[in-house]
Amino acid sequence: MRRRMSRILSSATRPELIVRQAVRSLGIGYRLNRRDLPGSPDLVFIGRRKAIFVHGCFWHQHGCALMGRAPRKRVEYWQPKLRRNVERDAEAVQRLEALGYTVLTIWECKVRNADLTMRLRAFFGE
Ligand SMILES: [Zn+2]
Repeated sequence: MRRRMSRILSSATRPELIVRQAVRSLGIGYRLNRRDLPGSPDLVFIGRRKAIFVHGCFWHQHGCALMGRAPRKRVEYWQPKLRRNVERDAEAVQRLEALGYTVLTIWECKVRNADLTMRLRAFFGE
């Protein structure tokens, strides 16, 4: 299970692809998963010092309907794991901001919203 989860987390998930495409449609270039940056953001814009995380609602505990119910089995295993994800997310944003980055988090449940492009434009100040 642990192996499967890490594979899900590291591979390009569909919401991520949608965001990449939206960014490309704005004519903005990006780098992927810069591991040398805190939290290894999904999209990094080095010259602009901006970073985007595309978060799955369950793994990162969005609290929305899509997140679904907490797993009932092995709660003692999942709860600390999910809590750690949330802590790590907050820490990554703080550390990126300390490096001068502006960070945008896009949740899986918002990726298909019509205003994704508007949000991205606002984020890039265009
Ligand atoms: Zn959500």
